[in-house]
Amino acid sequence: MDTTSLTGKQLAADLNADTRTRAAALTENGAAPRLVLVVANDDPASGWYVKSLQRAAERLGIACDTVDLGATASADAIRAELDRLSKDPAVDGVMLQTPLPKGVGLAEVSTAIVAAKDVDGVSPHSLGLLASGLPGFPPATSEAVVELAKFHEIPLAGRHVAVVGRSNVVGKPLAQLLLAENATVTVCHSRTADLPAVTSAADIVVAAAGRAGLITGAHVREGAVVLDVGTNEGPDGSIVGDVDAPSVQGRAAALSPVPGGIGPVTTALLMRHVVRAAEAARA
Ligand code: NAP
Repeated sequence: MDTTSLTGKQLAADLNADTRTRAAALTENGAAPRLVLVVANDDPASGWYVKSLQRAAERLGIACDTVDLGATASADAIRAELDRLSKDPAVDGVMLQTPLPKGVGLAEVSTAIVAAKDVDGVSPHSLGLLASGLPGFPPATSEAVVELAKFHEIPLAGRHVAVVGRSNVVGKPLAQLLLAENATVTVCHSRTADLPAVTSAADIVVAAAGRAGLITGAHVREGAVVLDVGTNEGPDGSIVGDVDAPSVQGRAAALSPVPGGIGPVTTALLMRHVVRAAEAARA
């Protein structure tokens, strides 16, 4: 069986073209949409991600500032900054980077981001809106999985989707989005007994565990669709997914590549959220 590559490049380009036009209109009518990245770590991977978000924003006509609170910032200091940015009318979107300082929990501090500016949908309030089917911003990565499937015309309604991973940033919100698309969802995690048996029963497998090569051909039934959210550092420093692509190739009907699958769509959706937040704030 030929395995189709579910690339995200065209979808990201389409989304970005729309975002660029809308950002330009906002700029013409007053000020560019503004995203603020809040950093409280000295993690190299986070630093790399911040730079890539700044470049993406710049290309689309979105102003992007970074506030660095330092790797030892207290929960109170982080909350105070998020609260200040939430109240600043010149700021449209706020994104708190991880990892956070030791002992500081994301749920504990992200409640200080007002939902209207929580463009990556991380706060318990945003997650509650999502679970309740109310308007808000879903986490961009989980939204990217659904949008990539739709772009490649992969039906979700009535299909059995196995999501491997149950984090608050990917697995759980993705389960909510898939339910909203009328999929039947099984959420797997590190304590799932016989993972290959569970994932092999699914029409679509989403790998979001952060374990390089976890999902192999033995986890996937013939003709299933596999979406790889994982971004792990490979032995040579390159980025690799959670799927062992060679063993899935020829068995799955379709597989999203890493890099070039979910990643570019995630960034494009995040930037679109910033523009949407700005449009709503200025309406
Ligand atoms: P996380 O917080 O570490 O959560 C990982 C989840 O996977 C947990 O629920 C864990 O189960 C489960 N898991 C770990 N090992 C497993 C195993 N052997 N079998 C089954 N389940 C297992 O990670 P995350 O933040 O959700 O991120 C997941 C992956 O997505 C990472 O590779 C991350 O880099 C990537 N990511 C990509 C993007 C993008 O834009 N492409 C954005 C965000 C994240 P327990 O709950 O039982 O521990």
